[in-house]
Order: sequence, then structure tokens, then C-alpha cells
Amino acid sequence: MGTRYSAVFFGRPDRPLAELHEALQQSVDAVDAQMSTWKPGSNLMLLNGAPVGTWIDVPEQLTTVLAAALQVGQVSGGAFDIGVGELVSAWGFGPGTGAPDPDAIAAAGVVGRVPAHLAIELDLVGRRVRKHSPMRLDLSGIAKGYGVDELARVLESHGIQRYLVAIDGELRAGAPKPDGSGWRVAVERPEFGRRAADGVVEITGAALATSGDYRHAVEFRGDRYSHTIDPRRQVPLRNGPASVTVRAATAMQADAWATALMVLGPERGSELASTLDLEVLFAERGIDPTDVDRPTTPAPERRSYHDQNYR
Ligand code: ADP
Ligand code: MG
Repeated sequence: MGTRYSAVFFGRPDRPLAELHEALQQSVDAVDAQMSTWKPGSNLMLLNGAPVGTWIDVPEQLTTVLAAALQVGQVSGGAFDIGVGELVSAWGFGPGTGAPDPDAIAAAGVVGRVPAHLAIELDLVGRRVRKHSPMRLDLSGIAKGYGVDELARVLESHGIQRYLVAIDGELRAGAPKPDGSGWRVAVERPEFGRRAADGVVEITGAALATSGDYRHAVEFRGDRYSHTIDPRRQVPLRNGPASVTVRAATAMQADAWATALMVLGPERGSELASTLDLEVLFAERGIDPTDVDRPTTPAPERRSYHDQNYR
């Protein structure tokens, strides 16, 4: 996934770390080997290369993540859509040149394309998948979260309960620290080119994920585009929230919903989140919506705190 994981935990000092380290590394390597779009031989890439209608066998973990991704896709009304792979590459966000390709953008941006949750058939028992429309799947909006859940599972299987595990901005905390306090996590200010904390959230037995418009972006014809795709419009999201932070039971759910809620926006997003077991924090920029170049000199932010539990 081109990034690092971290695991902070309290354990017995006499336990050797080498074996645990190896198990943690293996768990994230397995996620990478199955779900990366950066590894041509990953199970996901094999699935992407398969013809329409052909069943492809998939390993258990990939099956789990595909099932969750398609479910979030359905519940979010297609705001979360793992079928955006073609667009992700066309806009230069996937592996490749890192630059938008106008021809590929024109070819990929077919409005009315079938969303993945309607085009992908998953056989949970037989662990196989087939697509009913041509599409390239991209699990970058959910796989890191699943990787974090895997790190948590490994620690727990080694008898470790008090931990904070993370991959980038997706985190999960176990039981409180020995002094009884929760795990304090900084929520980043959604600023371009600068890293600063906006506030602190304490989590225990929960996961937290943030998606934002301020880290991964490309320039195209003088405008700045961030890496969340608006599946309805088949282009990168414009005028979306600056960031969305989600607290959920698992990092996989938090990760996927953070991406989905970027697309849905604060109004529809908060409404939907309140019907699910999610707590959300939207950060919005008070910029002129027609001017996408301005974020480099942002106007004062308008913030909407959906949930009072965030301090
Ligand atoms: P990050 O990878 O920075 O943690 P996200 O979790 O928000 O950020 O995932 C963003 C990635 O998800 C994009 O780079 C792209 O590969 C993929 N993606 C973009 N838009 C969507 C979408 N609407 N639904 C599902 N996945 C998406
Ligand atoms: Mg995500």
C-alpha cells in the first residue's frame, strides 16, 4: 500500500517481540498481496484482468473486504463504489505516471455506468467473484482499514488487549492503557502542505478513520483535483468537505464510510450516519465554491460537529 503500519501496545516485557513483529508484518503483507492495485499479481488485479462473466476464486480476506465494500456501496447509494478503478488510474491517482491522462479520462468517465454493488456477484460460500459489466475494482478506500483490523486481531491473538494500531490515517484502539486512560488521537487540520492537529479524540475499543481532500491531489488544466471520485459524476469530487472523520466499531467500516461520507457531504452524510452506528466529524472550507484554486489560501473554516462526543 506504499505506506507504513504502526502498533503501540502494552505487553509483558519478558515476551520476545520478534515473533509478534513477524506476525504483524505477515498480516499486512497478506492484505497487500490480495488487495493492492500496485501489485500486478495481487488477487484483486487478477480479478480485474478477468473477462466479464468468468468466476474467479478469491481468498478469504479478499472475500470479506469485497463483501463489506459492496455493502457500503449499496447502503451509501453508490457514493462508495469500488468500481472506480478506471477513473482512479485515468486521473493519475493509482500506480502509473501520477498525472491525469485526458484520453483515459474521456474513456473512463461514462456517466450512467453500473455501480460495483450492482455489477459484482460475490459467492461468499464458494469464495468466488464475477463481474457482469466491464470494470476495474479499486479497494484503496477500504483495504487499509481492513489491514488495521488485521493488526488488531494479531495482537489480540497474542494476548495483547491494550493497543493502538494504525495504517496512515486509519486507526483502531483496544482496551485502555494500564492507567485507565483511553488512546488519544490527533485529528489533523485539513490543510494543504502542512501538518497540524485540529483537536484530540480519545478512543477505546473503537476505530477512527479520516479521509480528506488535502493530501493526494493532481493538477489538471489549472485546477486541483483530490483523490475521492464522485461516482455519480464520474469525476473527482469538487466542493466536497475538507475532511471526514468517522468512528466505527471496525477500521474497515470507518475507512469505507469516511470515503463514502466525503462524497455524500455533511447533510446527507450526517443523516445516513445517524441511522448507522457511526459518529462523524465533517470539516468544511468556507471557500468560494467556483474557485478551486483558492484552497492554498483558505478562508476561515466553517465547521460542523455532528457529534458532541468529539472534543
Ligand atoms: P486514503 O487512501 O488517503 O486513506 P481514502 O480512504 O479516502 O483515502 O481512499 C481514497 C482512495 O479510494 C482513492 O485513492 C481511490 O483509490 C479510492 N476511491 C476514490 N473514490 C472512491 C469512491 N467513491 N468509492 C470507493 N473508493 C474510492
Ligand atoms: Mg477510506
